Amino acid sequence: MKFEGGDEDDKIISQVEVASSGDAEKVSSSRFMSLLASKDRDYLLSPTGSQVKVSDLEGHVVGLYFSANWYSPCRNFNPVLSNAYEQLKASQSNFEVVFVSADEDLSAFNSYRSSMPWLAIPFSDLQSKKALSHKFDVEGIPCLIILQPGGHKEEEVLRDGVELVHRYGVEAFPFTRERLEELEREEKEKHENQTFTNLLSSHDRDYLLGHHPTTGQVPVASLVGKTLGLFFSAQWCLPGMKFTPKLISIYHKIKHVISQRPGVEDFEIVYVSSDRDRASFDSYFALMPWLKLPFGDPKIRALARHFDVQSIPCLVVLGPDGKTVTKHGRSLINLYGEDAYPFTEVRLESLHRQMDEEAKGLPKSELHAGHRHELTLVSDGTGGGPFICCDCDEQGSGWAYQCLECGYEVHTKCVRAAGGASTVGP
Ligand SMILES: [Zn+2]
Ligand SMILES: [Zn+2]
Repeated sequence: MKFEGGDEDDKIISQVEVASSGDAEKVSSSRFMSLLASKDRDYLLSPTGSQVKVSDLEGHVVGLYFSANWYSPCRNFNPVLSNAYEQLKASQSNFEVVFVSADEDLSAFNSYRSSMPWLAIPFSDLQSKKALSHKFDVEGIPCLIILQPGGHKEEEVLRDGVELVHRYGVEAFPFTRERLEELEREEKEKHENQTFTNLLSSHDRDYLLGHHPTTGQVPVASLVGKTLGLFFSAQWCLPGMKFTPKLISIYHKIKHVISQRPGVEDFEIVYVSSDRDRASFDSYFALMPWLKLPFGDPKIRALARHFDVQSIPCLVVLGPDGKTVTKHGRSLINLYGEDAYPFTEVRLESLHRQMDEEAKGLPKSELHAGHRHELTLVSDGTGGGPFICCDCDEQGSGWAYQCLECGYEVHTKCVRAAGGASTVGP
């Protein structure tokens, strides 16, 4: 968080201490006053700029929203929070949000706030903003701290409001421990009971779409018994566009292997689109040889939430019974190509073993044409772990060549010998 005025730190901390210990009775009767008002301000700003008494918040669940317009993750979270906020307001829920700005100047604050339907601490009240940030240990933004009405216990304060709103939307309300435990239980049940039908069909649609304009409807029921990949991507997503040709090539290879071996479960992929308009959706899907959910279908959001898809591209793999096999299809494709099929634990264990075996024959260090330092062979157990290959820009894990000096890391298969330089054998 960026705040000006370094030497004010101590003063403000001591003010907070006075506020929370000096006048204990008053604090407990009006917790929001002590947090959100100051000695010469008992109001917050409404979206229209009018004053709203802090005391009006009593009885509400309040989200303190630390955010700034100069940071894109904040700008991206804004519409998500707005959406949940408007829905909760429409259903008369006692929820309120208070924006605690980390904007750099008043005009940035005003323009950012114009996109927010909730209250704000005036920009000029640097001290209150700073004190709140201190009190709740806000280290990164966006941050949404949830306070319960009348709750005075530290353990009732939730700090991961951003993640909860992303994950559960309005379902998370009223953000109590009990509600969250209930949601986790429900989620677990949903995963245990998941089938192709309840994942992919809706009350008015029991099919997916292929490429043919009239006969392109493929019944969801016909997928039962296949291994299914859900491909979350969008044309605006550069890594998605880069990964797509690779996935297409692997898809064809898997299909080929299956055609050679009767009895092996069939494979299919469904495109789950986050495209912003139909034209980009259509032109992106035109590249893909598999099926799709209709553009803008409500199931798309539901699936992203169900599988907690935080970034795209993402390949979730489902088994022939509809249960989740892995959410890491993308990195498994990068690591093992078509050999990863059918992505099951049994399959992966044997691939890991094979890879460990092969790694025994690899040089302990390499000089790679793309890097000036010597690279060292690492694995999960020896300083390796999930990485992005600096050569092919794709995800990797397990065995890799890593520069111990600067962290440069590549897949073992991506190493190209540097001008015939000698390598140190095992
Ligand atoms: Zn690579
Ligand atoms: Zn290096």
